[in-house]
Amino acid sequence: MSASPSAVDVLVIGGGQSALATAWCLKRSGLSFLLLDEQATPGGAWLHGWDSLRLFSPATWSSIPGWPMPASAGTYPTRAEVIDYLSRYEARYQLPVLRPVHVDAVERDGDHLRVRAGERQWRARAVVSATGTWSHPYIPDYPGRSEFAGMQLHSAHYVAPTPFAGQRVMIVGGGNSGAQILAEVSQVAETLWITPEPPLFLADEVDGRVLFERATERWKAQQEGRRIEQPVGGLGDIVMVEPVREARSRGVLVSERPFARFTEHGVEWADGRHAEVDAVIWCTGFRPALDHLQPLGVVEADGKVAVEGTRALRQPNLWLVGYGEWTGAASATLIGVTRTARSTVSEIVAALGGH
Ligand code: FAD
Repeated sequence: MSASPSAVDVLVIGGGQSALATAWCLKRSGLSFLLLDEQATPGGAWLHGWDSLRLFSPATWSSIPGWPMPASAGTYPTRAEVIDYLSRYEARYQLPVLRPVHVDAVERDGDHLRVRAGERQWRARAVVSATGTWSHPYIPDYPGRSEFAGMQLHSAHYVAPTPFAGQRVMIVGGGNSGAQILAEVSQVAETLWITPEPPLFLADEVDGRVLFERATERWKAQQEGRRIEQPVGGLGDIVMVEPVREARSRGVLVSERPFARFTEHGVEWADGRHAEVDAVIWCTGFRPALDHLQPLGVVEADGKVAVEGTRALRQPNLWLVGYGEWTGAASATLIGVTRTARSTVSEIVAALGGH
């Protein structure tokens, strides 16, 4: 155990795109900083996506600050291309990332913060939490779920359709993960798609670029106190990527409203209808990974931290980057995180001094 903790101006927890974008801005600030990431290699959540996952925006629209993502062989970059980009980005700017280091706790230490990871600890003047969401998959609580004898898997752990060949598979969730996993599983299995509401399919020509432009318009209007009219369609709505369009042509993009309860071998609706199911894939999203902030008492009942911009209201030397709309419009995307990384570092520089 280190006798006295290592000191640093800014400690960034995480090593995904949000942490790297923040680090790029910190590099220009004159402040000392360090990133701690629990993964063994670079790439953050992209290390854990499914095999066929592709981005829904072209490379130039999927870039973090400084060096843009190199053009992809196809229009939309693959998961492997994103991992390669983030790895090379980190090396190119010689960003100081320690791996694998899982941060257990952030605690107050006078006007500093103490960051603990097992036996190791650091003392920082400011902390940026950029731990994402993938390590906290969310599964809604349906009655009888523990009685269901079949296999259950969250999209966080889904890799490929092969293990489901010939089975009856229920896919729960109406976002992009649900639609994309349904599209490929339905090629080898009989599928049942459950969504709380009818899914919102975007027009075929709408991809991540258009969604980001709309988010930017909303952000600008908000900054200027204007109200604007925009077509319906948010970052969670379904982008009609090629495999999803192909599934539509096979007529499988048909969803049913939620059932009332699980049975041992399937599910049952309130009106008595039932369906036999061998496996369930939960595409029901994620929650922010904020366990390490519990000692500060800043995590609210909804699992988030109260922020103004990205700064914690109840802990002024703590910032949160990249978790979702609550930490900045489109901040949980590659192209969108730059804006909040920049504003976060400007605030840190103003608070600590630097340039
Ligand atoms: P992460 O990538 O999750 O990085 C956080 C890092 O912190 C991870 O390495 C994690 O292991 C680590 N960590 C967590 N807790 C600790 C701890 N206590 N101590 C140390 N380290 C810790 N975005 C787009 O821009 N375009 C797309 O097309 C797109 N498609 C998507 C498709 C899917 C299926 C999903 C799930 C997301 C998609 N996104 C897309 C969204 C987005 O880009 C990701 O969610 C992104 O990974 C968020 O980056 P991050 O750096 O905030 O978090």
